Amino acid sequence: MYDIIIIGGGPAGLTAALYARRQNKSVLVLEKNSFGGQTVFSPKIENYPGFFEMSGMEFSEKLVDQVLRQGAELQIETVLSIREGSDGKIVLTDCGEYEGKAVITATGAKHRLLGLEREEELIGCGISFCAVCDGAFYSGKEVAVIGGGNSALQEAILLSESCSRVRIIQNLSFLTGEEKLISVLKEKPNVDFTYNTVVTSLLGEEELTGIVLRNTETGEETTMPLDGMFVAIGLLPDNEAVQGLVALDEGGYIDAGETTVTSCDGIFAAGDCRRKNVRQIATAIADGASAALAACRYLENR
Ligand SMILES: Cc1cc2nc3c(=O)[nH]c(=O)nc-3n(C[C@H](O)[C@H](O)[C@H](O)COP(=O)(O)OP(=O)(O)OC[C@H]3O[C@@H](n4cnc5c(N)ncnc54)[C@H](O)[C@@H]3O)c2cc1C
Repeated sequence: MYDIIIIGGGPAGLTAALYARRQNKSVLVLEKNSFGGQTVFSPKIENYPGFFEMSGMEFSEKLVDQVLRQGAELQIETVLSIREGSDGKIVLTDCGEYEGKAVITATGAKHRLLGLEREEELIGCGISFCAVCDGAFYSGKEVAVIGGGNSALQEAILLSESCSRVRIIQNLSFLTGEEKLISVLKEKPNVDFTYNTVVTSLLGEEELTGIVLRNTETGEETTMPLDGMFVAIGLLPDNEAVQGLVALDEGGYIDAGETTVTSCDGIFAAGDCRRKNVRQIATAIADGASAALAACRYLENR
């Protein structure tokens, strides 16, 4: 029996482990892919306070090292579900079962992909999902933003401030984002719009060098050379393991505020998996600390 079981080894989950260990709680972190979460895809992190620049890999390795030194247990296992046990929660994984008095779920969010061949390979090598994070690498270069909703438009506005050209590719005949954002972009001389168009394939070997587009009305195919492509067609929360157990919002995010308290007693939610406006390392880490301390308070009072 662990005091706290943490699902997800991204920045939120690992920070929660660090804080919980410093309160002398026994901690198990279960991660299905790579410790570090989404940060392992980030070639350069330049907005983490106190560090001018580091790779996502370097950041993850340091965080894992720090958590291990504090005595947390880390396992690569996929959590499938959670159920109530006699003295806490039973966490079922693809390898077995663990019992914890409290659970912190920090399973993050996945960016929705276009579903193209080699798309995952090129993430961080010309394909990005985050202008705040990666926009600076494309300063003076040509990029495309895929999508026409608010997040795509916001990405495009930010990129238009430093990129030589920003090409917005939308599958519909109109943009679905706010009028205010659309009018800001329409004023920009370095932004253009392509409607009724989908990306059908990616060009370039180790780095993205362009995309092939198809007009959905005429069927015509064209090639667009590019330095980068920002995909902004929505995020998918990774909350399958707690589905039916904790309340989710309409987007599938865990309905928990900054307290990280969920609708299920003894389960706390931290990081990108919960309802929030800003999904960044800094906010995930803040949640990890809050969730660990909230879980510790819960253990003291139960
Ligand atoms: C390419 C890229 C670049 C980025 N660059 C920056 C940047 O420069 N600065 C910045 O602040 N932010 C950046 N971000 C965003 C930042 O990485 C995220 O906001 C942050 O990682 C969220 O942390 P998290 O711990 O909440 O979730 P995640 O990092 O998504 O971690 C969640 C973890 O949970 C695991 N998991 C999910 N389901 C299960 C399960 N059932 N069982 C076990 N494990 C599970 C996942 O495998 C994952 O490792 C970037 C994101 C990407 C994709």
